[in-house]
Amino acid sequence: MTKALYQSFEDQSDPDQGPERLRLLRHEIAARGLSGYLVPRTDVHQGEYVAARDERLAWLTGFTGSAGFCTVLPTCAGVFVDGRYRVQVKTQVRDVFTPVDWPEVKVPDWLRGNLTEGTIGFDPWLHTLSEIEGYSKALDGSGITLSPCENLIDLIWRDQPEAPMANAFAYEEKYAGKTHLQKRQDIACALKDAGQNAAVITLPDSLAWLLNIRGGDVSHVPIAHGFVIFHSDASADLFMTKEKLSSIGDHLGPDIRMHTPDSFGKYLSTLTGSVRIDPDNVPMAVASILTNAGIATERAQDPTILPKACKNSVELMQARGAHLRDAAAMCEFLCWLDAQAIGTLSEIDVAVALEGFRRADPALTDISFDTISASGPNAALPHYSVTKASNRQLKEGEVMLVDSGGQYLDGTTDITRTIAVGPQPDAVKRAFTRVLQGMIAISKLRFPAGMAGRDLDAFARAALWAAGQDFNHGTGHGVGHFLSVHEGPQRLSRQSTIAFEAGMILSNEPGFYQENQFGIRTENLLVVQPAALPEEGNIKTLFEFETLTFVPIDLRMVMAEMLSEHEKIWLNTYHQTCRDKINHRLSAHSRVWLDQATRPI
Ligand code: ZN
Ligand code: ZN
Repeated sequence: MTKALYQSFEDQSDPDQGPERLRLLRHEIAARGLSGYLVPRTDVHQGEYVAARDERLAWLTGFTGSAGFCTVLPTCAGVFVDGRYRVQVKTQVRDVFTPVDWPEVKVPDWLRGNLTEGTIGFDPWLHTLSEIEGYSKALDGSGITLSPCENLIDLIWRDQPEAPMANAFAYEEKYAGKTHLQKRQDIACALKDAGQNAAVITLPDSLAWLLNIRGGDVSHVPIAHGFVIFHSDASADLFMTKEKLSSIGDHLGPDIRMHTPDSFGKYLSTLTGSVRIDPDNVPMAVASILTNAGIATERAQDPTILPKACKNSVELMQARGAHLRDAAAMCEFLCWLDAQAIGTLSEIDVAVALEGFRRADPALTDISFDTISASGPNAALPHYSVTKASNRQLKEGEVMLVDSGGQYLDGTTDITRTIAVGPQPDAVKRAFTRVLQGMIAISKLRFPAGMAGRDLDAFARAALWAAGQDFNHGTGHGVGHFLSVHEGPQRLSRQSTIAFEAGMILSNEPGFYQENQFGIRTENLLVVQPAALPEEGNIKTLFEFETLTFVPIDLRMVMAEMLSEHEKIWLNTYHQTCRDKINHRLSAHSRVWLDQATRPI
């Protein structure tokens, strides 16, 4: 029997129910003497992917995007979504809900505009300390206040699914590079140095990295939901449903004490000494419990975040292998796509076929996110997600943008290629070439220690800027090791001040989008590596990027005359490396395709 697809193309909400559910919610709001209620998309763990029981926003409003929230008042209900979802939200919610442009419109300002005074309820487990403090500060003196209360959606959601119960499993040292004891000893040193007795960890990928466990509680990210209280003696308390840990054996050992998740709050209030909390990801409820119990808290980043981001040599070695196998699957896919008769394929056909090529690898456990399979004008939506309703046939003369990745036991991949479907207009080829120039500029860059995303992002845009063009998203994001495909703290973006360090994995994905016409993006993953110091230099530490992704870039859209000699050399060398590394992994007909796709220009 074939396994079910990792990606679903069904519309996963029922917007027609929205008006009645909103009426029920308002009834509960009024019964508590509140004037409104916040309904976030996030779960307790602030995850990008949430379990079915945590899809409260979609259940209430019909909106299924991966970010956003609803603010319900007596006579209006705003659905706040960012630039990615402005079109989608209009097609998904009924007119009892009003789409609001976020973050341009801030929640406190919107509340002030729609309410003269009153109390807004919220579930303190679903909002971070920073978020609630930020709102409260901005509402100061307005007559509007925030007040924690029980989860009102859970009260009215009759057939709410159960919490996920996927089996957690030990993540072997051959993949992780360090035992959890080694990791715990390192983190314990950091806590001791900071004079802290314990740290509260609520992010599931932090928990997964620290204890070398993985799970399957949500789609596309191999995590197990739970909480950790980590102590400066390197021991830890793990709050996770016992049944989930049934096959983990003695992996955790005696220094990890097990508890049920519902004892987490009670246990927090017994801590002593100074406790580290990360205001950007601990739930407001955690901070309140500690404060009410008179426990000293110190605000600092979750101590696992930086060591998790800087991959060790074993993780990097494993990731290189995963990327080569993923590249082979991508080449088989691209060869297959080129051989199909135009007009016979839809976006869904393309996404299903690509998943099939990745599934041939036994180390694949999931795709790393829902594949963006976008043809023609749909490619102009950077985060387009194909459903049966939006599905479109590929057409001659259009481009096809495919952004996808795999979760392999030895690494997480993320790659975008834009493919010419038949001959392309020169304007498309020029834009494609400029995007490629930006992508090459980042790939070739050398930079001193201390540089952050905001210092490097412009290199990806220079060629586009010169032509009066730009793209409206960051150039890249951090990537986890068999964890989340979007992992902080580093980013290649104008907003990021986090300095790059050796071992960090980043995406390099400039693009260009012409609304209602076409979209282009080219994406490789890179690793920050120390670079050899030039003899005449005065910089003490120099970094460069090692490329992990080796899949041909569509030469049918490269205007060679626009490239400098250095850019041509980079592209030809890159393609030669693709041939050297991938050729022997391919079927005979894909080898012929690869030869042609990597010809020197
Ligand atoms: Zn991607
Ligand atoms: Zn990406």
